[in-house]
Amino acid sequence: MSRREEILAKMRAKKDQKESEKEKVNSKPYLLKADPWEMYSVQMGTNRFNVIPFPMTTLHPSFIKDKDDFEVSKERKKFFGKSAKFVDDYDIFLEFYTHPNIGDETFICTKKTFDMPCPVCEDFQELRRTGADWKTVLSKLKFKPRELYFIWFKKEKKSMIFESSNHYMMKELNPLLKGGYDEDEDEEVTISVYEGLSENIVSFQGVKKSFEGSDGDHTGSIGHKLDSRKYDIPEDVYEEAPALEMLLNMPIKDGKWDFEKYYRIVYKAHFEEEPEPENEEPENEEPENEEPENEGPENEEPENEEPENEEPENEEPENEEPENEEPENEEPENDPNECFIEDGIFGKEFGDYDECEECPNKKGCEKEKKKIEKEAKKKKSGKKKKSGKKKEKECPEGGFFGKDLGDFENCDECNLFDDCYKASEE
Ligand SMILES: [Zn+2]
Repeated sequence: MSRREEILAKMRAKKDQKESEKEKVNSKPYLLKADPWEMYSVQMGTNRFNVIPFPMTTLHPSFIKDKDDFEVSKERKKFFGKSAKFVDDYDIFLEFYTHPNIGDETFICTKKTFDMPCPVCEDFQELRRTGADWKTVLSKLKFKPRELYFIWFKKEKKSMIFESSNHYMMKELNPLLKGGYDEDEDEEVTISVYEGLSENIVSFQGVKKSFEGSDGDHTGSIGHKLDSRKYDIPEDVYEEAPALEMLLNMPIKDGKWDFEKYYRIVYKAHFEEEPEPENEEPENEEPENEEPENEGPENEEPENEEPENEEPENEEPENEEPENEEPENEEPENDPNECFIEDGIFGKEFGDYDECEECPNKKGCEKEKKKIEKEAKKKKSGKKKKSGKKKEKECPEGGFFGKDLGDFENCDECNLFDDCYKASEE
């Protein structure tokens, strides 16, 4: 082993150990520890905070899905132990999806989040094709929408990170973003999610909820509001906003998500065996849109009968009917803005499911999707920001000079190796 190899092996081992220690202290294995920020938990009574936009990187799901839409900046920054290059855009919350019932663990759904292969979704499709029962089998394997926010409290002058189910945040906030009617344009005016969240104060009431099959109460939220903000948020709060996608606990290789490795990890946890080599690159099917050839199993999923009430095992049951607000769950067929798919998102996911074709809310949903897309474009063009200062010595891989030694395959051939090693010792 050459001296360089020895040093690299040592550094990588040290980093691996740090990683595993980080995992141990985290109660949510699918998220990294959010150091130096604390995770916010919903309080009983009034919860009130500002949502702060955060910079996007090349690890952000939107970039992974649609690279051509972004310009990549040279600047690279490290958050939560991971580093990636910035892209020229900001996001207001990170939307991602999980599979909560894999062994005792929760994993990121790479299919729904990144449009990359996910072993659980593949199994879901297979089971669905063969007519598995929705309630006992399929609903447990279905991905669940989650959201991450960088939030700021005026009174405490404190930033935190907030993870929520879609059910307790955007599902409640989206309807508040519907505004008046624009006569010139002859259409309903909708405030963009970005504007709506970044220019208003979010508030809701935390309430105790208990539900059948749970071993205790948990805190849910009701009465969501958006109030216009009458004060300015300090500039440094915006400046320090972390790229939230970096919190996702997935392996990284050369500054990119290592989807193949993660696929194998999730596969092993789900099937309790190693994937066959050919499973690493599963056929490029598009499970969400595919028509099951053999039968019509889509009718066997009684989303319309019991749309939300079937997952008592979830920590945040998307389930029970919040006592005070309008009980959307009772008559889902009467709410034209409801997606009948469990955890489906009205508008956003139009066309993602076999059921969309025959959905009574098809029209409104399609319209909403167009609106969302329009808004995303608007947002993109409006939100550029200057990139920051230069460093003296640059890592040719785009990493942090002196910090990322060993993070890249090319480190041992790098002509800055010795300087970088020296810097890492300082
Ligand atoms: Zn999945």
